[in-house]
Amino acid sequence: MNSTQNSDSSPSSSSSSSPIITMDKDLHVTFIEMMYHLLPSPYESQEINHLTLAYFVISSLDFLNSLHLLTHKEALSDWVLSFHLHPTNIPDPNNGQFYGFHGSRTSMFPPDQTGALLHNNSHLASTYSALAILKIVGYDLSNIDSELMLSSMKNLQQPDGSFIPIHTGGEKDLRFVYCAAAICFMLNNWSGMDKEKAKDYILHCQSYDGGFGLVPGAESQGGATYCAIASLRLMGFIEDNLLSTRASSSLIDVPLLLDWIVQRQGTDGGIQGRPNKSSDTCYAFWIGAVLKILGGYDFVDSKSLHGFLLACQYKYGGFSKFPGEFPDLYHTYYAFTAFSMLEESGLNSLCPELGITQVAAKGL
Ligand SMILES: [Zn+2]
Repeated sequence: MNSTQNSDSSPSSSSSSSPIITMDKDLHVTFIEMMYHLLPSPYESQEINHLTLAYFVISSLDFLNSLHLLTHKEALSDWVLSFHLHPTNIPDPNNGQFYGFHGSRTSMFPPDQTGALLHNNSHLASTYSALAILKIVGYDLSNIDSELMLSSMKNLQQPDGSFIPIHTGGEKDLRFVYCAAAICFMLNNWSGMDKEKAKDYILHCQSYDGGFGLVPGAESQGGATYCAIASLRLMGFIEDNLLSTRASSSLIDVPLLLDWIVQRQGTDGGIQGRPNKSSDTCYAFWIGAVLKILGGYDFVDSKSLHGFLLACQYKYGGFSKFPGEFPDLYHTYYAFTAFSMLEESGLNSLCPELGITQVAAKGL
């Protein structure tokens, strides 16, 4: 057991026998800066998601109030924009293709001699990541030719209101409804989706126990529940701080949802994604952000969650999924968002429905 697993890990502990452990911001800045310059070799297998990994790095620096370390923001914007699919001919937006962002260089294939696009891999999640990075570094999204992107995004919406992530298919579920909603919100243009259909799909995903499954009838899960509530908030179907208003007037069964949500925090202080699973750092965001959107974050036992997160803090920076393990970029990022909700000193505040800082979301 390393020192970060001490059960009395509260930074406010006055016990002389227990080390006072805090969130070591400077250490994490160094850790993320290293990731910015060179991703370690274990990330090679995730090359297809290069833009999403970049999103975790850039947005982490924003949460850590360290964007000044990005000395070449324009070059960074240009790099992100280079993943945007620009057809050589003016295409028919109803041809079934999606003209968004690719996730990596290796998934970008050139058109054939006639200009036809044989292998288009532009993806909703990569497009979300690209637009989020651009917002974080202050790029004016009105410079993006969003008309073709959004009109072609309609090709991904299914008759039941769900979205597939890529024009050739793939799973259709709440993750991609969320990406589509976040893309429209960031571009301030909802022409890319039928909001009513998307709303109906989301409502069909609320389970008997109050949580949301990724598809109708599926087991409730923290990530799916976040996608449902954040999408409804982005689309304007639920108001901010719903719990402080008349919850009974809502589209969704809020008391049942709340009942499911508050049972996710365990006796170890951490938060699980569904019943009978271990507490996991990332659910401090997926579940915590739902409560934040609903105006119910007071239901979180902040002190014990703080202790769990610190038990996942690695001595050389970053956070792990479970206490005592090696860190990874994904869980490190969601630990920062969780510490932000816990109002850790020196961290920027979170826009819970977009998953980036408030400053980036508002474009300040
Ligand atoms: Zn996790």
